Amino acid sequence: MAASIEDQLADLRSRSLLRRLRTFDTPQQPEIEESGKSLISFASNDYLGLATEPALKEAAKAAIDRYGVGSGAARLISGSLAPHAQLEEAIARFKGTEAALTFSSGYATALGTLGALCGEDDVIILDKLSHASLIDGARLSRATVRVFPHNHLGKLESHLEWAAENHPGARVIVVTEAVFSMDGDRAPLTEIVALKNEFGAMLLVDEAHAVGVLGRNGRGLADALRLEGEVDIQMGTLSKALGVAGGYIAGSRRLIELLVNRARSFIYSTAPPPSLATAARAAIEFMESEAGENRREQLWENLGSFGEEMPQLFSDGRRIQSAIIPLILGDSGRALEAADRLAERGFYVPAIRHPTVPRDAARLRITISARHTRQQIAALCGVLRSL
Ligand SMILES: *Cc1c(COP(=O)(O)O)cnc(C)c1O
Repeated sequence: MAASIEDQLADLRSRSLLRRLRTFDTPQQPEIEESGKSLISFASNDYLGLATEPALKEAAKAAIDRYGVGSGAARLISGSLAPHAQLEEAIARFKGTEAALTFSSGYATALGTLGALCGEDDVIILDKLSHASLIDGARLSRATVRVFPHNHLGKLESHLEWAAENHPGARVIVVTEAVFSMDGDRAPLTEIVALKNEFGAMLLVDEAHAVGVLGRNGRGLADALRLEGEVDIQMGTLSKALGVAGGYIAGSRRLIELLVNRARSFIYSTAPPPSLATAARAAIEFMESEAGENRREQLWENLGSFGEEMPQLFSDGRRIQSAIIPLILGDSGRALEAADRLAERGFYVPAIRHPTVPRDAARLRITISARHTRQQIAALCGVLRSL
């Protein structure tokens, strides 16, 4: 007999895996409030503080006045609005590609793109720590899926050899994140590019947590390593450092044309509101400006002060590689307790548990923003040291 919903919930609770939604009546900013209690948040992916940036808010308001709030239908039905086209031009320019296409979320981007490019005769080779959207996209595409241990180039190479032998003529796509969302480390992209070129495979890099943080003007890891021209499918989201919502693919004009024709999450979903597209374009323009570059420097300064406060985390040559710092505690119960203790002391840091991370690798996931003050970071580290 199937377990009742109640039993399923009780089972999750008994394993410290039950999740609950929390409500904050404050914008995305370090100072948040939950039921009247003030907390300093180290939970948001709004690394540059753009979610509350005046220029973006003004752009969205002006777009609402001009275009209204809804976009009417999917773009192949009622057409693109000018803000959608302008945003895609801005993304393509920013990423140095011929074209770009936006989706309603990063999740929808991964699902639609892998499904459009691959079918049951094809092969998708993923890093084991790839985001759920990429794993779901690979599964839904019905391609043969091979997974390599995190950042393991030898195993990636043997999967590529296997695909060449067993699926000659198939489309083979290697999938990785640029900065891994729960570990904060980077993919060895130069080496991955060399391998995919050797085997004639395509490469999809999800730059969700690298954009705004790495590369010239925050263009991401491929840019930082001067590999822009080498990544066939550059994926990203507008929802993290860019501060708004939506996802995108940047690549060749042909790739984008195929996605318009085949990506089901694009074809069968209403276009995002025009005001979001306008705000996202303002976010890209902000990042290209001097103010954007200063904001990114501020983020790295803040990351530097975190590193100085917590030298024990960065011994043996380990460095801070992004705005995400995991504190791996192992057991889910321990991670929850640590998060509770931080909340008692006035800090909101989420406990990340299975299935987001492996069963024995529950953790606190600390994210730093350019908007945090040095004092807030020092105070957090004081509590972390006492855990
Ligand atoms: C957040 C995230 C996504 C999904 O993007 P949304 O815009 O939040 O749907 C995809 N990939 C990675 C690596 C992410 O961290």
